[in-house]
Amino acid sequence: MSSREKKDYYEILGVPRNATKEEIKRAYRRLALQYHPDRNKSPDAEEKFKEISEAYAVLSDDEKRRIYDMYGHAGLSGAYTQEDIFRTSTFDFDEIFRDLGFDLDSIFERFFGVRRGPPRGRDVVMDLEVSLEEAFNGAEKIISVPVSEICSACGGSGAAPGGLKTCKVCGGTGQKVDRRETIFGFFTSVTTCPACGGSGKFIEKKCPTCKGSGQIKVMKNISVKIPRGADDELVLRIPEMGERYAGGKPGDLLLVVRVKPHKLFTRKGDDLYLDLPVSISELILGSKAVIPTLDGKVEINIPSGTPPGHIITIKGKGMPSMQGGRGDLKVRLKVVMPKKLSHEHRRLYEQLYVLEKPFIEEERKSLKD
Ligand SMILES: [Zn+2]
Ligand SMILES: [Zn+2]
Repeated sequence: MSSREKKDYYEILGVPRNATKEEIKRAYRRLALQYHPDRNKSPDAEEKFKEISEAYAVLSDDEKRRIYDMYGHAGLSGAYTQEDIFRTSTFDFDEIFRDLGFDLDSIFERFFGVRRGPPRGRDVVMDLEVSLEEAFNGAEKIISVPVSEICSACGGSGAAPGGLKTCKVCGGTGQKVDRRETIFGFFTSVTTCPACGGSGKFIEKKCPTCKGSGQIKVMKNISVKIPRGADDELVLRIPEMGERYAGGKPGDLLLVVRVKPHKLFTRKGDDLYLDLPVSISELILGSKAVIPTLDGKVEINIPSGTPPGHIITIKGKGMPSMQGGRGDLKVRLKVVMPKKLSHEHRRLYEQLYVLEKPFIEEERKSLKD
């Protein structure tokens, strides 16, 4: 907690020091309704809600209330972590919140960072390569992925038969209780058992099948739907195909789409680019060309006098967009020089050279002054 002076828990709930459990509960219910941040939009409601919930977590629990009455805030912070203050009081919160129509799990995660119940398995992230054609048409792919399953040999405990023993440090309670004598008298502190992490058990002999992890990886064929227009970074979530732990909900499998480069088309967003080789004479005289698209061939018209590098846009012949509609196909005119000139070819270019000389001299005039 911060260094600022903490307020008295009885004052926070507005109850006398000798209030009964029933009176404390009634007071908390009334204040929880008033300050719940889903209902109360004032900026300090969340802070106030945390404050009254902490006060209630302590005063509704006999042992915590006793420590608080004797040693105040300092006594409590030595005995419990902030998380422990709430965790061991959740039963009562459950009942109150259910009555008030609040979602207890989300409140605990949001305000106190406490996750209740067995942990959810982790999500597994993998790349999924698709071809441009698959992204264009949409596809249903069967892919083989390593899926984690609870080890059947040990049931997820990670221990060999008979290898799971009660923790010797805490005797199975999962808690470490220290009783110290101080100048104030006896002082009890309760913390999570460091030897077993609070589970109350320890693995003496690891399960040989899963080597103690409690889960094994098996290759599974799963069917994945690739939507039309799928692009790089699109994430396809396959529910419950991630890691799993005994008792908890499995994580998800997240497939990150990677579209493989295509030999003809380059993609930029929903547009496709295609390089079309053209000759100088085609640009000068004008021409027609049949070009491929991802859905059949089309003929395009190159108007006479088109400059090299020009891009001809064919509307609606690009990739389908996941928001609907289609991108364009951009045809880049790429001038290709003749590799070898025949005698005839050279003779014609010599004639062109002579004819074009005056026009190009005119164009260069501006460079001379
Ligand atoms: Zn196992
Ligand atoms: Zn232990």
